[in-house]
Amino acid sequence: MILTVTMNPSVDISYPIKDFKLDAVNRCKETSKTAGGKGLNVSRVIHLMEEDLLATGIVGGFLGRFIQQELDETQIAHHFYEIEEESRNCIAILHEGMQTEILESGPTITTAQEKAFLNTFHSLLDGVDVVTISGSLPNGIDPLFYNRLLDECYEKNIPVLLDSSGSYLKEALNHPHKPYLIKPNLDELKQLTYQEGNQLSTLDLIEVLEHPLFEDIPVIVVSMGKDGAFVKWQEHYYKVDIPPIPVANPVGSGDATIAGLAVAIKHHQSPLDTLKTAMTTGMLNTMEEKTGYIDKTKFNHYFNQVYIEEINKKDRGSIYD
Ligand code: ATP
Repeated sequence: MILTVTMNPSVDISYPIKDFKLDAVNRCKETSKTAGGKGLNVSRVIHLMEEDLLATGIVGGFLGRFIQQELDETQIAHHFYEIEEESRNCIAILHEGMQTEILESGPTITTAQEKAFLNTFHSLLDGVDVVTISGSLPNGIDPLFYNRLLDECYEKNIPVLLDSSGSYLKEALNHPHKPYLIKPNLDELKQLTYQEGNQLSTLDLIEVLEHPLFEDIPVIVVSMGKDGAFVKWQEHYYKVDIPPIPVANPVGSGDATIAGLAVAIKHHQSPLDTLKTAMTTGMLNTMEEKTGYIDKTKFNHYFNQVYIEEINKKDRGSIYD
């Protein structure tokens, strides 16, 4: 089974408003409210791939119950730690082709709640093949909390796919118990390694991935939107090309990619098939309006069009030597 972790899920509210006006009353007819958060997108795509999963994290109050109810309706198994303080709303106002967002920060977690969740997490690990951890942490929680989850998984020899950014990711990379896989996009990679400039060539990418920060991380998938991905898999480097596709909404494609990676790793697919699976779930999400949604019937068609080339590392010193 795959265990997905979403520490600060949300109720995502979308307000399409044609002529949005500031400092005035705006009325909205077609509101949509859905359970959101990167880890929940991952969960939906794993579920649509017809794989066993359990979603966990922390939810609170009325909004927390809404999130759980929605997972029940889509028959996604979940076991969240419940608190009283409300989970957050994330509001997107869609106006004149633009999107104005208001993101609540969510509940502030106490030390006692943090410990209680850690116990819950520990108790859920039996029978788990792969853990995915997505997104940021709620307020109040130890900023090194993901390292505690890595410790628990290390004890049970369970691979962790960590899709986070900034200090959460950096702290995990510096921790002795490493994630098995990370999936930064290009911006996140540049932020991590203080790279500047827009373009990174294949050789630049190899050098960036030789940064000491990535030592002992078995798999690094640098996702690059329509340009596919660049991957370090153990000692091998791969450039992954994808076909042009009709794009409907690319939001959440990174989460769909993590879902594909988790499913493939659970099934011990070869590195090349794992990358093809991940690119395919990413593309399928991009082709849909709904975030965290894929049409599995199109899977084989796109899987067969992913092209992977192994890149031989030039025999030269690293910029980090
Ligand atoms: P997000 O933060 O929205 O979840 P991300 O920045 O983490 O996304 P991307 O690199 O944009 O992730 O996309 C992940 C994968 O989804 C890509 O590797 C690719 O397979 C697919 N994808 C994303 N955008 C496109 C696109 N415009 N055309 C084709 N495939 C895409």
